[in-house]
Amino acid sequence: MPFELKDLQEHNSELLNLLTQHLPDMLWVKDLEGKYVYANQAICDGLLMAKDVNEPIGKGDVFFALREREAHQDKPDWHTFGELCFNSDIDVIEQNKAMKFEEYGNVKGKLMYLEVYKAPFYNKKGEIIGTVGAGRDITQLKKIQSDLQRSLKKLDDQREALDYQANHDKLTDLPNRVLFLDRLYQSIILAQRNKQKVALLFIDLDHFKEINDSFGHDIGDKILLEFTKRIHTKILPTDTLSRLGGDEFCVILNDINDVETISIFISEIVEVCKGAFMVDTQVLYVSMSIGVAVYPNDGESARTLLKNADTAMYKAKDNGRNTYAFYDEEMSSKAMERIYLETELRKAFVNDHLCVYFQPQMNALTNELIGMEALVRWEHPTMGLIFPNKFIPLAEAAGLIVELDRIVITKAIAQYKKWKLAGYKPGKISINLTAKQLEEDDFISFLTTLFASKKCIHENIEFEVTESQIMKNPEKSIAILKQINELGISIAIDDFGTGYSSLAYLKKLPINKLKIDKSFIDDLPNNSDDVIITKSIISLCENLNLSVLAEGVETIEQRDFLLENGCHLIQGYLYSKAVNAQDMTKILQAKV
Ligand code: C2E
Ligand code: CA
Ligand code: CA
Repeated sequence: MPFELKDLQEHNSELLNLLTQHLPDMLWVKDLEGKYVYANQAICDGLLMAKDVNEPIGKGDVFFALREREAHQDKPDWHTFGELCFNSDIDVIEQNKAMKFEEYGNVKGKLMYLEVYKAPFYNKKGEIIGTVGAGRDITQLKKIQSDLQRSLKKLDDQREALDYQANHDKLTDLPNRVLFLDRLYQSIILAQRNKQKVALLFIDLDHFKEINDSFGHDIGDKILLEFTKRIHTKILPTDTLSRLGGDEFCVILNDINDVETISIFISEIVEVCKGAFMVDTQVLYVSMSIGVAVYPNDGESARTLLKNADTAMYKAKDNGRNTYAFYDEEMSSKAMERIYLETELRKAFVNDHLCVYFQPQMNALTNELIGMEALVRWEHPTMGLIFPNKFIPLAEAAGLIVELDRIVITKAIAQYKKWKLAGYKPGKISINLTAKQLEEDDFISFLTTLFASKKCIHENIEFEVTESQIMKNPEKSIAILKQINELGISIAIDDFGTGYSSLAYLKKLPINKLKIDKSFIDDLPNNSDDVIITKSIISLCENLNLSVLAEGVETIEQRDFLLENGCHLIQGYLYSKAVNAQDMTKILQAKV
């Protein structure tokens, strides 16, 4: 006899029972209060801990949960399922739709994850009378999932570490050749776009092989580490220091505009490596040879630049090590001169080769000396007298300008006092100040200490500050200049008319004098623009009640024009160049 659908229908409930009782999934039917109407073997064994499939009928999850907890009071985390299951029943009833949940809690002390499907159960009229549900233990699956995630994360970390290793030097942790070439490539692209230069410095330690051979690799490694540390202090975050291998390093300097910047960097790293390297018990000295190639002048690709920087480095070695060379000859000599001058200038500080010259300032009406400007000179043992235009910018770039000005102030005041004591009438002494000085916190205390030791009369001292320097940080300058003014020192604005000046600030500044710049005087009285500017400055001074002095006056015509227009104070070659203290004494003698 064939097995037909109607046979199946006849056996419907038994069949269902047979199937559900033997399925490994948990199956149940509950009424609206969450009481079981039907539960299969799997839920009885796996979640409820019921004796048999009949026990749950008429009881809810909470009943079984409480029974389990009571039986295992000594284990507070024994069974935490129960209330949670009923909450999701209510969700299904209230929202009147089938839903999927992931529920977890402890069963017999072990964490279990259940994936649960619940749906409303309707009577023939379509009213909800309960819920049906099916649940599956997915604890294993969850575990596999989280293990997998952990493994993936580990793999990611390993890949990152491998990437890092592939791009960095093991010993120094610096970018290696691979990353270096990539960075150089990027720098070139950027420089090309911004029309700038990139400098590539190839650095090779001198005699490093000998260090390794005589002291061992351990000491050699420590030298390399110390070297890296020192150079690193001079590297900007936007630049790159890398180790290509052995004792070869490379530096990429971005945003380069001139040879000057490269020279300054070279002096800095040479300076920072000069001091002894203390490694274990050894005291060693390290020098280096540096080759420089500049994009785009010396090559347009990363590889060409590297090759040419390397060539330049060998040129430096040929020149006798502990030196540097540019791939380009012209740049080489420019940098060479700049670095030579800086080294010499540092020596000048130590050997007291800076001295002060004095240029008379006259009242052209009375022909009286009203004061003098102190101007620094460098007496070089072989190059002779060097003028400030040659070394002031260098001193500024090398961070020596503040000290230079203090030397000039000290020397000028000492000399000035000698003249006073000898009974001469030197008038006012004017001293040039860089704005950097005004940013030094101890400048005022430097002055008060100096004045106390020299027992000076402050009213006869004047500081000259250029307009453009004040305008760099007007608020701060005003504050410090006020303090200086309170000490009794007067202030003159130098090179007036050349910078961008704000009349608003001019009123706030505690100034006593404006010095008309030489560039406006040069073509007087013929150049009409200069005539207008000079006249304007003079009348500005009248209105603001300031003294006005014209500098760089060389001719009688210039002087007469100034006198006619109300400017009597004059400084210039017409009267005298700046002279040394001895010659100034002669001038003062003639005036007594
Ligand atoms: P400055 O302060 O404008 O000084 C005036 C410069 O013009 C001096 O040059 C002076 O010798 C020159 N001069 C004066 N009268 C004439 C003239 O009639 N004709 C010509 N052709 N030149 C004249 P110097 O001494 O070479 O100084 C150049 C600049 O160096 C100064 O310009 C000043 O900015 C700076 N400087 C000089 N000494 C010091 C110093 O001790 N500290 C600082 N921070 N800067 C200084
Ligand atoms: Ca000056
Ligand atoms: Ca000037």
